[in-house]
Amino acid sequence: MEPPSASAAARAMFLMLTPNESSFEKVEDVPLYVQQATPVFVGLMLLELLVGVLKTGAPVITISDGLTSISAGMISRLPYLLMRGCELSAYVYVWNQHRLVELPWDSPWTWWFTLLGVDFGYYWVHRTAHEVAILWAAHQVHHSSEYYNLTTALRQSLTQQFASWIFYLPLALAVPPSIFAVHIQLNLLYQFWIHTELIRDLGPLEWVFNTPKHHRVHHGRNIYCIDKNYGGILIIWDRLFGTFAEEKEKVIYGLVFPINTFQILHVQLHYYLDLWRRSDTYKTFSDKLSTFIKGPSWQPGKARLGDYENNPKVTGKEVPHYPIWPLHLQVYVVIHFLLVLFIYHDLFEHKMMLSQLTILGMTSYILLTLTSLGFIIDQRPTAAVLEMLRCVVMVTMQRYSLMKPLYPSLAVPTEAFVSLSLLYWALQSFSLLLSTKKKTT
Ligand SMILES: [Zn+2]
Ligand SMILES: [Zn+2]
Repeated sequence: MEPPSASAAARAMFLMLTPNESSFEKVEDVPLYVQQATPVFVGLMLLELLVGVLKTGAPVITISDGLTSISAGMISRLPYLLMRGCELSAYVYVWNQHRLVELPWDSPWTWWFTLLGVDFGYYWVHRTAHEVAILWAAHQVHHSSEYYNLTTALRQSLTQQFASWIFYLPLALAVPPSIFAVHIQLNLLYQFWIHTELIRDLGPLEWVFNTPKHHRVHHGRNIYCIDKNYGGILIIWDRLFGTFAEEKEKVIYGLVFPINTFQILHVQLHYYLDLWRRSDTYKTFSDKLSTFIKGPSWQPGKARLGDYENNPKVTGKEVPHYPIWPLHLQVYVVIHFLLVLFIYHDLFEHKMMLSQLTILGMTSYILLTLTSLGFIIDQRPTAAVLEMLRCVVMVTMQRYSLMKPLYPSLAVPTEAFVSLSLLYWALQSFSLLLSTKKKTT
């Protein structure tokens, strides 16, 4: 594996890598550009926050929404701890068994052809993710934020990768896996910086490239925005296949029916249950099946994609769902989020040295933490008990040196903070118990 290089990852984000420096003979030699880009993601998010405050006078990122988006990004990459990723695994299999020709891995022509091929594949991955309800169940995660900023880019689906790989397989008949492994990352990285409201118009670049302006439309729930602008790097596919829309009136972001929760597993999985319930209300097998394979707005008797007549009308005055929660809880959630982020980072750095059981245990801890913090943001009554149990897990982990402080010198304050957290939530749970007892007697 290549040594980490944040500068290469930063340039990769803006298509500023040359074919020469990013063509490799073997898949094993391909740098983990997405992983290396983490400091760039953080740096650009902080920059957006700063510029946003200077420009608009208010923060463009909120703690509740931003942390939910970053949590979704973290969850989406957890399967990579145990496997190489569906897209690349299936690709290598088809290349090994069924390739028709072998394009030279060290030719710029192969590199450029693959850039176009992957982006074309992405257009169809993305379009079907919007037009086939069972695939939308995975992709709706990315659209579930009512904000539009760089954290929204990280709000990725856990389950989408289990279907998207199919669309790239035709490339495996000719393009070496090492070149595909570069471009599948570059395509994803490019799409990070376009999630911002601060860049308004990029002039002639708007003709060819997917830009913040075009992608804002894609995230809108105004009628003119629905099912438009699917492109990854290039917008030409939308112009060619009739799915392009120019930004007009103010875009209102998010799902047509907002979910109003920051509970991360609900964000990731709720639509599967919704679909199942909807199909259950239909009598014929054909209608039940159509619920899953036709558009998310489909209803019996309607065309494949359905119509949007049941959509709530967008007035332009909608305000995103924003929880009113005490400042001390906001500080608490941010500190615990940073602690789990550090464990997450550490887990990816050392995954080769850890047993599968340890990886599964740490993954469960990360999921428990992100769920519990989501419960606190949502201010659910059960949050106190869940967080108390999580604090017990943290104290146990500290005992066995599995819990790491952000810096070694912060070990003692971190330990004290975790113990205080446990005490706080134990008291909260106790007072909750007393109040429910009072209500029932
Ligand atoms: Zn989409
Ligand atoms: Zn997006």
